[in-house]
Amino acid sequence: MTFLRIDPRLVERLRDALHVVIFTGAGMSAESGVPTFRDRMTGLWARHDPQDIATPEAFRRNPQLVWDWHVHLAESVRAATPNAGHRAIAALQDLVQQVTVITQNIDGLHARAGSREIIELHGNLLRLRGFRDDDGRQEGLRLARPPRPCPLCGARCAPPGAWNPDPGLSLAGFGLAAGPVPRCPKCGARLRPDVVWFNEMLDPDLLDQAWAAMENCDAVLCVGASLEVEPAASLPFRALECGHAVIEINPAPTALSALADASVRGGAASALPRLVESVWGSAQGPGE
Ligand code: NAD
Ligand code: ZN
Repeated sequence: MTFLRIDPRLVERLRDALHVVIFTGAGMSAESGVPTFRDRMTGLWARHDPQDIATPEAFRRNPQLVWDWHVHLAESVRAATPNAGHRAIAALQDLVQQVTVITQNIDGLHARAGSREIIELHGNLLRLRGFRDDDGRQEGLRLARPPRPCPLCGARCAPPGAWNPDPGLSLAGFGLAAGPVPRCPKCGARLRPDVVWFNEMLDPDLLDQAWAAMENCDAVLCVGASLEVEPAASLPFRALECGHAVIEINPAPTALSALADASVRGGAASALPRLVESVWGSAQGPGE
């Protein structure tokens, strides 16, 4: 493995860090076979622009089309395995007192690589929940006033009296699989992937946790994120404002590149193990 040439003072700062945050975007998983939305070479997204189809409006208009698109995406996520970059991040847990992964990815690959403290800002593709309509146009059994959320799927769509009273119901048997859009067996709401779609808000609690991690850590590695979509894009800049060491890993420059303490031009799967090896001396991950 060739070592990265990094300013020795920066290496010292990283070695002294007690809490390292890894902030990752879609580029983190590109070499695992999950393409970024921007790199459409594979044709996976060729027919539909994700910004038109991964939205609550599109689901309301044509739930089956949106479901099918996510089934297709889930196939590539299920077929993917964590790459050497994911494994290097997991290995860092043995070398640094605290490692927090903050990811915009919905593929669950950090957990599969062995990372333990993970904030999934955009949710997880392979988890389902009930579709909620913020405008009060509820799915499933339509009612004027939404009652308390369904205990199974979280949707507010039916009064308790209309819910299926069978106590043995669960969502365990449901997944992103080809076929009609499933409905919650308790309340009748359509099920959807538990991800943050375009035009949806991030979970404020997760955002608070991510913000706090950026403020309280000692160093940040920002990997494969274009930093073009707020509010997540501001997170690494907050760490810079706080005076923490910030290193970027991305084959293409971003708004962070000129401000970061170091900008490594390379793919996550090769550059991350080299960075971990160069600074901390070991990058052997636990693997899957
Ligand atoms: P993005 O904004 O994170 O941009 C992708 C970035 O990855 C770009 O800056 C690109 O230069 C960089 N990149 C490409 N190849 C790389 C590599 N091998 N190593 C490191 N960096 C690399 O992501 P997006 O594609 O615009 O997607 C927007 C949102 O959609 C994401 O934040 C995410 O929520 C979701 N998404 C998730 C996945 C996933 O879970 N794997 C995949 C696609 C999109
Ligand atoms: Zn339900």
